[in-house]
Amino acid sequence: VQKLILLVALFWIVGCAQSPAPVDGGDPGLAEEQNSSSPLPGEAEGLVDAPPTGVRGYGDEAWRRQGGLEARLARDVRPARCADFLRTLTAEAHPPGSDANRRIGRNVAELFKSWELRVRTDTHEVLVPTPIQVSVEMSSPYAFAAEGKEPPIETDFDTQSKQTLPPYAAFSPDADLEAEVVYANYGRREDLALLRASGVEVKGKILLCRLGETYRGSKVWLAERAGAVGVLLYSDPADDGFARGEVHPRGPFRPEGGASRGTILYTFLRPGDPGTPGRASLEGAEQLTFDEMETLPRIPATCLSFADARPILEGLGGAVVPETWRGAGPFTYHFGGDGACVTRLEIAMDYRLRPIDTIVATLPGTDLADQEILVTCHRDAWTHGAIDPGSGHAVMLEVARLLAARRDDEDPLRRSVRFLSFGAEELGLVGSTEWLEQHRADLREHAILVVDLDATISGSSFEVDGSSSWRQFTENVGTFAPEGREARMRFGPPRLDADHAPFLAHLGIPALSIGLRGDHGLAHSRYDTFSALRKHLDPNFGRHARVAEFVARLVARAANADILPRDFGALADDILNRIDLAEAAHPELDLAPLRDPARELKASGQRLEVAREELLQRGSIDRDFAREIDAIGRRAEALLVFDEAKRFWRHALHAPDPARGYLGFPLPSLEAALGRGRTEAQREGARLAQRFGVLAAEIESLTLRIEGVLKK
Ligand SMILES: [Zn+2]
Repeated sequence: VQKLILLVALFWIVGCAQSPAPVDGGDPGLAEEQNSSSPLPGEAEGLVDAPPTGVRGYGDEAWRRQGGLEARLARDVRPARCADFLRTLTAEAHPPGSDANRRIGRNVAELFKSWELRVRTDTHEVLVPTPIQVSVEMSSPYAFAAEGKEPPIETDFDTQSKQTLPPYAAFSPDADLEAEVVYANYGRREDLALLRASGVEVKGKILLCRLGETYRGSKVWLAERAGAVGVLLYSDPADDGFARGEVHPRGPFRPEGGASRGTILYTFLRPGDPGTPGRASLEGAEQLTFDEMETLPRIPATCLSFADARPILEGLGGAVVPETWRGAGPFTYHFGGDGACVTRLEIAMDYRLRPIDTIVATLPGTDLADQEILVTCHRDAWTHGAIDPGSGHAVMLEVARLLAARRDDEDPLRRSVRFLSFGAEELGLVGSTEWLEQHRADLREHAILVVDLDATISGSSFEVDGSSSWRQFTENVGTFAPEGREARMRFGPPRLDADHAPFLAHLGIPALSIGLRGDHGLAHSRYDTFSALRKHLDPNFGRHARVAEFVARLVARAANADILPRDFGALADDILNRIDLAEAAHPELDLAPLRDPARELKASGQRLEVAREELLQRGSIDRDFAREIDAIGRRAEALLVFDEAKRFWRHALHAPDPARGYLGFPLPSLEAALGRGRTEAQREGARLAQRFGVLAAEIESLTLRIEGVLKK
C-alpha cells in the first residue's frame, strides 16, 4: 500500500513537471520548451520500484527516498538555464592560457557561489604556445600561399570575432624550412607502411596528412620517427565536410574554409605541462629546459583547412593513391614523392608560462562527506567553443544548480560532490593533470568516481564510455531517445581523450564520460559557436536538459547509495575479454595464467553482488560496515594501477597506444613489453596475472566477510 501511495504521489509530481513551469530568465525563444526534459512515464515508474529491478546498492528505505529526490531533479531541470550558461561560456574566444579564459572562469566561480557551493580556485603556471606567425607556401609546381584564416560567416556573428587565433598546432617547434610534400592519408602506422611498400620516401619530406582516425599528435610522432621534417594536418571533406552533409551555416559539417586547431603534444607518453612531469606546476615550480621536455614534438606541424590544402594536394605528382586513401576533393589524389611539389613551412611561436585556473566547487555531503564524486569539464576552447567544451560545461553547471538546490532537503546528499572547471584541456589534458598532481594523495583517499562532460552535446546518439565496473550502475539510471527515436545508451570502453583519463589511468579512480554524440565538422574551428550549436544540434536546449537530468540522477544515486554497487563480475568479464583479444593478436604468447585469477575474480564478484544486495534487503545495515565495504572496493579498483614512478599511464587496462593516441591495446603494458621482446612480454604477463590474483583475493575475502554476517 505504501508503495502504491508513493507511486501515485510520484505520478502527480511528474504530471506537474509536464505542465508549463515559470520561465526563469534566459532566451525568450526557449520559454515554450521549458520541460522537454521531464521523465518519460516508464522511467518514472522505474524510479519508485524497490530493488531488485536492477538498481543496486540501495536498501528499500533509501531507495524510496532516492526515488523522490530524482523526481524532484527531473522536475527542476531547465533548458533555458542551460542556454543561459552556454551564452556566458561562449561570450568570447577563450583559448587555454588567455585572459578571456580566466574571465570566464571567474564567471563560472560566481555561478557556483550563487548556489552556495564552497568555491576555490587552484592556479597553475604552465607552458602555453601562442602563434606569432604560421605560413605555408608552395613554390612548385606553382606558387600558392595558404590563407591561414577561416572566412567569417555573415549570419553567424561569433565567427567574425577578431580574437580567435588562426589555425595552428599547439607545441609545434619554430621552423623555417622547405621540403617536398608527400601525401600520407591519415598518417597512421599502416599508412606509412604503405608509402614504404610503394617506394615513396618519407625521410626529409613534409607529410600532408588528413585529420581523423587517430590523434593528431600521434601522426606527428610517427612522422618524426620516420624521419619526416614537418607535418601538415588538414581536414578532408570526406571525413567531416561536404561529403558527409550540409556544411555550416546550412548544416553541422565543416565548410571548406574550416580548419581544426589542436595540440600535438605527445600526451600518450605523458599528459600535462611538459615542463613539470610528475609534479604540480605551481608558481615557481622547477621547469625542465626545452631539450629535456620529452613530450614536445621535434618536427614542426600546422593545421590547414581543405581550401588551403587543396592546391597542395592538386600539386602532388607521383603514383595515384589506392581507393581508401582518396578524399572527397574533385581531383585525383597522388602520393607525391616525384619531386614536383615543394612547400615552405614557417612557424614562429611565443612560448610562455601562463596562469591557468581550475575552479573547484564543493557540495559537501553529510555522513559520508569524505567520499567524493568528481564532475569535470574543461572550460578552455580553441575558439568560442559552444560544442567543445561549452555544451558539457553548461550541463555541468545545470547539474550543480540542481544538486545544490537539494541541500536544504530533508535528505541532502550523503557523499560530497566536487565540480571541476579545468583551464587547459586542449593543450593536452594540462589543467586536469596538474590539478591531479597537486592533489594526488587527497584523490587517492577520497575520490570514488569521475564523471566527465566534455563536448557533451555533439549529436543525438547517447553514449557513455567508462569503467566496466560502473556500467550496470550507469545503465540503470536509464536511457533516453532524442527525437523520439529508439536509442539505447551505448556503453563503451574509456577513450583517453578528455579530463577523466588521468584520474582513471594514473590513479585508478573509475570514470565515466557522458554525452549525446554524433558526426559534425565544427570541432576546433571558428564555426563552433552558440548559434551553430543551437541551429544544428539543440534548437530548444532539450538535449542539454536531458543529459543534465541524467547526470544529476546518476551523481545523486552514487552519492546516496547505502553501499556503492561496484561490479567486479563485469570488471572480470572485461579483463577476460581483453585476454582473449591479446591472445588472438599474439598467439605466440601463453596468456592462460592470466585467465585463472580473472575467472576467480568473476566468481567472487558475482557472489559479492548477491551477498551485498541480500545484506541491503535485510534493512538497517550497520553504517560502519557499509563504509568499510566501500573503502575495500575503492582500494580494490585502484589495484589495477601499478605503482611506477616513471610511467604516467600505468593502469593494467587503460593506457593510450602512441600510434593512435586516444585508444589503447586490450592489455597495454603487455603490448609495450612486447616491443622489448617475447621474454619481457611473458614476464609482464606474469606480473599482470599476479596483480589480477591479488584483486581476486581481496574481493573473495570481502565476499566471505559479508556472507559471514549474513549467516549470523
Ligand atoms: Zn573538449
